Amino acid sequence: MATQTRHEMHGRWPQAESVADIRRNLASVHGRIVAACQRAGRDPTSVRLLPVSKTKPEASIRLAYAAGCRLLGENKPQEAYRKWEATTDLGDLRWSVIGHLQTNKTKLVARFASEFQALDSLRVAEALERRLQVEGRSLDVFVQVNTSGEASKYGLPPNETTAFLRALPSFPALRVRGLMTLALLSAEAFRVRKCFVLLRELRDQLRQTAPTGIVLDELSMGMSGDYEIAIEEGATVVRVGQAIFGARDTPDSHYWPTASEEARNGQ
Ligand SMILES: *Cc1c(COP(=O)(O)O)cnc(C)c1O
Repeated sequence: MATQTRHEMHGRWPQAESVADIRRNLASVHGRIVAACQRAGRDPTSVRLLPVSKTKPEASIRLAYAAGCRLLGENKPQEAYRKWEATTDLGDLRWSVIGHLQTNKTKLVARFASEFQALDSLRVAEALERRLQVEGRSLDVFVQVNTSGEASKYGLPPNETTAFLRALPSFPALRVRGLMTLALLSAEAFRVRKCFVLLRELRDQLRQTAPTGIVLDELSMGMSGDYEIAIEEGATVVRVGQAIFGARDTPDSHYWPTASEEARNGQ
């Protein structure tokens, strides 16, 4: 398959300034999800679109809510917590934390998040479990895997995931749903695709040895520039920010060190 990345749009996605803008962007992303599913012979309802609102103001959150979004992704726990606090009047709006977490921020996440997609250490698992017990809550979690081999990326190396999953049944408040990854931010589609293939094959392999109760149904992979490739390779969750909300002011290097150099490789 010859699907290309859309990383060249990086920093150029038009700003969404109204409910109609967000509705139109959601419809356009949905159309591309459906087309990617058709190419891959998949059912479009097997792919969940997670809109990512990081760096966007509360006003954008409210537009997204009015456009029908009920689960939003945020990369930074404190920013997410602030937005959650500011929008508690939107009773059924839920939050997914998709970025790295330090143990000293687990308290925040345990309080408000309904999903955490970047679990990659037992220390964080332990701290989250303790905090969730206190709150009387549970949390859907994804184990983040480093599929690009870049030292700067968070996530477990693939060869540490078997042992990691074996330890997770000790944390009953964490409901393990699957794996998450960030592909190489490269304009070369075949290098991006490789990361997604690795995650899918790892998931298939881990399913054979995962402890009872650890279900690995979900593959969270793909963002604005590469979600169509991710879907062709089996993504069940795509995390899309800029294609829905518009370009961010903050460069990606702010979130992923070295991302900015990689992004323009091959262009
Ligand atoms: C920001 C972010 C995304 C979305 O990126 P876009 O380019 O805005 O689509 C996806 N996943 C993670 C972990 C992110 O931090």
